[in-house]
Amino acid sequence: MRTPLVAGNWKLNKTIPEACKLVTELLPGLQTVSGVEIVLCPPFTALMMISILLEGTDIHLGAQNMYWEKEGAYTGEVSPLMLKDLCQYVILGHSERRKYFGETDQDINRKVKAALAHNLIPIVCVGETLEENEAGRAAEVVSKQVKAGLTGVSVTEGSQLVIAYEPVWAIGTGRAATPEGVHTVIRNVIRPIMAGILGENMAQFVRVLYGGSVKPDNAAEFFGKPEIDGALVGGASLNATDFVRIARAASQK
Ligand code: PEP
Repeated sequence: MRTPLVAGNWKLNKTIPEACKLVTELLPGLQTVSGVEIVLCPPFTALMMISILLEGTDIHLGAQNMYWEKEGAYTGEVSPLMLKDLCQYVILGHSERRKYFGETDQDINRKVKAALAHNLIPIVCVGETLEENEAGRAAEVVSKQVKAGLTGVSVTEGSQLVIAYEPVWAIGTGRAATPEGVHTVIRNVIRPIMAGILGENMAQFVRVLYGGSVKPDNAAEFFGKPEIDGALVGGASLNATDFVRIARAASQK
């Protein structure tokens, strides 16, 4: 019912030549994967070149962040208007943005609404820290983030939305969450909160990804869970062989 989606978050990695090289390595393998939507999210500086390399393929491009205003005196920012000619997707509210750049739920909500208004598909990241997890507060934190992130989003806009559940303690640590635990958070927390905002039908329609140390060796187990619609992949998306293997695992879903 929901097409699996695998997105690669390259974070602060790859110069323009390096990014082009990685795409060249990725393309032959990714083009053999069917039934999976694939999104590459390189740094801003490489978007233009990669958009050219991806022409004629069905691989999508995404940005890793965006400001909510479309233009103005906001030095250093990039707007939805600038991105929409290059990308179809934009990652918003990644935990690294929350942690290192002080992004609040309110900022993320503004960005989500701005992305939707400009026909960009936001991949909205939510997830609890280790401390919150150990205090038994994962459900509370995740529901607050989903609620705040989607405030004011209409049911129609909901169809253009992706959520990524990324427990902070699993990102870049090699310590992935358990597929069963992720499935439970999505079923018991994320979809019910979405249902309250977007209605039950739309809550079932929206794709919810898992992110946090997804590798070729554990990907299939995550994709085996009915509530997990794909993955947001960090580290492993920088290795062509690994990322293609993860995308291929999603095509078995
Ligand atoms: C991420 O950056 O969103 C992520 C999930 O990273 P990693 O796969 O490296 O844990």
